[in-house]
Amino acid sequence: MKITRVETFAVPPRWLFCRIETDDGIVGWGEPVVEGRAATVRTAVHELAEYLVGQDPMRIEDHWQVMTKGSFYRGGPILSSAVAGLDQALWDIQGRALGVPVHVLLGGPVRERVRAYSWVGGDDPAEIADAVKAQVDAGFTAVKMNACGRMDKLATAADITSVVERAATARDVLGPDRDFAVDFHGRFNAANARRVLPHLADLHPLFVEEPVLPEYAHRLPEVVAASTVPIATGERIYSRTEALPALQAGIAVLQPDLSHAGGISEVRRLASLAETYDVLLAPHCPLGPISLAASLQVAFSTPNFLIQEQSIGIHYNNGAEVLDYVVDREVFRFDEGHIRRPLGPGLGITVDEQAVRRADNSTSDWHSPVWRHNDGSFAEW
Ligand SMILES: [Mg+2]
Repeated sequence: MKITRVETFAVPPRWLFCRIETDDGIVGWGEPVVEGRAATVRTAVHELAEYLVGQDPMRIEDHWQVMTKGSFYRGGPILSSAVAGLDQALWDIQGRALGVPVHVLLGGPVRERVRAYSWVGGDDPAEIADAVKAQVDAGFTAVKMNACGRMDKLATAADITSVVERAATARDVLGPDRDFAVDFHGRFNAANARRVLPHLADLHPLFVEEPVLPEYAHRLPEVVAASTVPIATGERIYSRTEALPALQAGIAVLQPDLSHAGGISEVRRLASLAETYDVLLAPHCPLGPISLAASLQVAFSTPNFLIQEQSIGIHYNNGAEVLDYVVDREVFRFDEGHIRRPLGPGLGITVDEQAVRRADNSTSDWHSPVWRHNDGSFAEW
């Protein structure tokens, strides 16, 4: 079998899909994208495709080595995300060629269903209460929310109180048997994270995410030591070597993204590395159906898996939803906040190719908002 063609599709709301075609008719799909840099990643995918066309798609690991290391300069979100989507598509092809789901190729299922959480938005406690209640009513057993909106690196007493009140509101609605996680989104510095975390401890969040920006991983040991709250990070970590300082710092949860961190090949290795630090895996996934399908294949074959992010109904999904590009929507049906094990070959989904071709280039690229502090200076989003 040989790879004959690699295509890409930029589709609403902000996703990029790739399609790898082979000479015996098997097609694989992947989702290579950095949110806000879809066009750049698209170019990188087509550069890598020059190498892939003519190759045997079954040699996934060898292609991964060449794609990540073969141009001398390596790493970073653009290249790692381009490789990630192509890697997903190659695993999809291999699963389809052998007639099994990817998680069977990764050692077989270690669980029968995967717990997922939903995002809740809202700024005032009443909105948060309503949003959490809606997810509980939909059967979810866990939610995640931002800790705050735009905020100074060293927050005021009022701002800190508002963070704690939001968390307390969520806990009130959820009761003791469900979970909430809080995303700091890298908006605080280490000192502020240390100051806020002890106030959240008694509310028992599942974890607090990105208490500091990934470039300040060397400050994570202090942040971890500041409270008993489990610390999570990883959506802006792209490889094992980048994950190592966070793991050594004592984080509790590693959150690599299947569309950013080198795909299924690297994330399953990240999961194994995390296991050596007694750290759990919670794949980041505010993206589309192919990225979610790839995440689930890893989740079903990873012993130290905790929970799966998913973006159905997320506030970013303007113009299209996760289910718009798949033929069989039952694959992503939630029962009691869990997804059942997909039994289909490859990634376990059937991409609606006509819908994807129709949507290609139908919208302008999504970009992250640029926030400013009150004095006009740049603020972390
Ligand atoms: Mg996050």
